[in-house]
Amino acid sequence: MSDTGFCPELSGDVREVRDWVHEFARTVVRPAGAEWDEREETPWPVIQEAAKIGLYSLDFFAQQWFEPSGLGLIVAFEELFWGDAGIGLSIVGTGLAAAALSASGTSEQMGLWLPEMFGTPDDVKLGAFCASEPDAGSDVGSIRTRAVYDEASGDWILNGVKTWATNGGIANVHVVVASVDPALGTRGQASFVVPPGTPGLSMGQKFKKHGIRASHTAEVVLDNVRLPGSCLLGGKEKLDARLARVREGGRSGEQAAMRTFETTRPSVAAMAVGIARAAFEYARDYAREREQFGRKIGENQAIAFLLADMATRVDIARLMTWRAAWMARNGRSFDQAEGSMCKLVAGETAVWVTEQAIQILGGAGYTREHPVERFHRDAKIYTIFEGTSEIQRLIIGRAVTGLPVR
Ligand SMILES: Cc1cc2nc3c(=O)[nH]c(=O)nc-3n(C[C@H](O)[C@H](O)[C@H](O)COP(=O)(O)OP(=O)(O)OC[C@H]3O[C@@H](n4cnc5c(N)ncnc54)[C@H](O)[C@@H]3O)c2cc1C
Repeated sequence: MSDTGFCPELSGDVREVRDWVHEFARTVVRPAGAEWDEREETPWPVIQEAAKIGLYSLDFFAQQWFEPSGLGLIVAFEELFWGDAGIGLSIVGTGLAAAALSASGTSEQMGLWLPEMFGTPDDVKLGAFCASEPDAGSDVGSIRTRAVYDEASGDWILNGVKTWATNGGIANVHVVVASVDPALGTRGQASFVVPPGTPGLSMGQKFKKHGIRASHTAEVVLDNVRLPGSCLLGGKEKLDARLARVREGGRSGEQAAMRTFETTRPSVAAMAVGIARAAFEYARDYAREREQFGRKIGENQAIAFLLADMATRVDIARLMTWRAAWMARNGRSFDQAEGSMCKLVAGETAVWVTEQAIQILGGAGYTREHPVERFHRDAKIYTIFEGTSEIQRLIIGRAVTGLPVR
């Protein structure tokens, strides 16, 4: 771990990454956005192109994750999602599954399964993270998927239905959260890796969505999925010790799990910042060109002030995101729930800015001739997934009051 001090000026290395990803987003991702949104299918050819240049690769994610300022992945995500959010999520969805695996897995498990998640440039693969269930969305303590240990074989048997899984059913490797001891709520849960081709795992319905339509979202059905003991992330010894501590009323791993979620929130916030910036830039350029009443619409204060607010809010969201990413990378604890703060602000900023962009384009903004209506549809997911805005406020509210806010 390094401590470079928080500095909003990017290092030369990070600027290089930003410019490289921007070029890919500008030349490959943005031009393909509308098509894959309409097709509502996983953009395999674009993922393959990203893999060919090394952007969709374990190496890239690992290098940027460990970049000393904490901003490597953050600026990469902003650029990619500036290009298109549906395609962006298809490219980075595996990264979120990889983060979940890395949060609980041993180095042996990471060494084995992370490469399987990404595949190779000639044979691209995906990863999926499956926590949510039909009756356990915000309330992750209600997860019903059961993992039962078979003493005789040392195997685990998983049964249940997961929902809303990004890349669910089409991934090579699934990371599944299941309950080992339901009486203990989140403290009785464990994560498992489901290797490629494991019998009993199948895709349920694929959802037709409002936005990020290029990103695959589906149910995952687990029907007597038998996994060797080595698929329990972290291993059985660690799990048994943790459960024993919880049953004795001691400290649990719950706080640690919450901290892990907090540390991944800046990367999700960065995606929202990318969408918001794309919408702002598009609306600004339009306002400089479009004429009504014999002048540019941007010459009206009503429009210029709106653009001023849009630019300001994008900057606020970015600075909060960078601060949280730097804190996470440099081991600062999120005492005021700064991870949740940046996700909350970035998500709501993206929704607001993209809506104003439609307004600035007028009727044109409401059509699919321009991308701002898609940006708006895509932005909305950022107040919902990875913890809704209400749940972020709950976490921040608890952090700033010290009260058990419900
Ligand atoms: C496109 C998409 C992709 C996703 N990808 C994944 C994925 O890859 N893996 C995964 O595991 N999950 C994924 N999710 C699931 C996502 O994280 C959940 O949708 C989210 O956590 C909300 O859960 P829910 O939809 O069940 O809503 P609910 O929890 O039912 O919430 C409904 C409403 O009630 C509010 N609410 C609930 N509890 C409270 C409370 N205590 N106080 C105040 N308000 C409250 C919520 O904020 C929300 O407004 C994805 C979802 C979508 C839509």
